[in-house]
Amino acid sequence: PQLVNQIAAGEVVERPASVAKELLENSLDAGARRITIEVEQGGVKLLRVRDDGRGIPASDLPLAVSSHATSKLQDQADLERVATLGFRGEALASIASVARVKIRSLAEGAEQAHELAGDGQGGWEGPLPTAHPQGTTVEVRELFFNTPGRRKFLRTERTEFGHLETVVRRIGLSRNDVELRLIHNGKPVFTLPAGEDQGVRERRVGALCGQPFLEDSLYIEHSGAGLSLHGWVARPSFSRSQPDLQHFFVNGRMVRDRLVAHAIRQAYRDVLFGQRHPAYVLHLSLDPALVDVNAHPQKHEVRFREQRLVHDFLFRTLHEALAQTRA
Ligand code: ADP
Ligand code: MG
Repeated sequence: PQLVNQIAAGEVVERPASVAKELLENSLDAGARRITIEVEQGGVKLLRVRDDGRGIPASDLPLAVSSHATSKLQDQADLERVATLGFRGEALASIASVARVKIRSLAEGAEQAHELAGDGQGGWEGPLPTAHPQGTTVEVRELFFNTPGRRKFLRTERTEFGHLETVVRRIGLSRNDVELRLIHNGKPVFTLPAGEDQGVRERRVGALCGQPFLEDSLYIEHSGAGLSLHGWVARPSFSRSQPDLQHFFVNGRMVRDRLVAHAIRQAYRDVLFGQRHPAYVLHLSLDPALVDVNAHPQKHEVRFREQRLVHDFLFRTLHEALAQTRA
């Protein structure tokens, strides 16, 4: 299984940022309200994610790290309307095949916390009793220590940390209800307090996308036809300082989708001639049954059941909003 896991790891684990994404999504799926991400040397030396979620019962720990073991899907019908972020059950097994992983967890209602330590060779020690408050800490050390071919493709500490920070930012933008803390080489990078009121949301967008974006953008909120959209789009006057200010979320999941990008670009082009690279933070919500998120292991692609409907909804909503900025 070690080789199989390493192959699967090639799909899921490309760099520290992809490890962070998987671990953070697991924490969110576990209902965490506070998550701390501690990183050393861009995440290559150490990547530790601690949450206060439901935790993993000791008896489930070995299962959690075996490939294709997911506690999140019961049957095919579930696969059709995946609402949780992870559902393939291979992330932990894959990560553990290319790094030294240690998991510590105290499950909700349990009295004793346990830990499981991987040797990076497919072997595991534990579960052994340990001390841990309710929730889970997953520690990933020396990423790719046993796969030099993969390690070769890692960039500088700065670049790897940049990618990782982008992942954490996106998650920060997708979930205002969860407190996020990021620490690099012992120094706090940011803390995002949780809250659902508009003030907290705005502070987050400001902290993550920059104050100029927040000040020079338009807040929109619109629903219809079972679709609901809210978020910020840059006004024509906004001149970007960050290269990548295009954040789109579908039911809380970050998405890079051609249909979405096309609808937004069209609206910008139509209204504001020449604005070819719009900046935005937008959240679309719809019935999970109407969107297929199972398209790609990295899970950035989606397939809408009713593409036309979604495209037109986005286009019209943005068109109308942007037209106001011209008036
Ligand atoms: P998936 O998320 O696709 O189910 P993973 O390999 O990422 O697969 O995780 C395997 C299982 O381990 C999850 O289904 C979940 O039961 C458990 N798990 C992983 N991380 C956590 C966490 N932070 N809190 C609670 N349970 C977790
Ligand atoms: Mg997962």
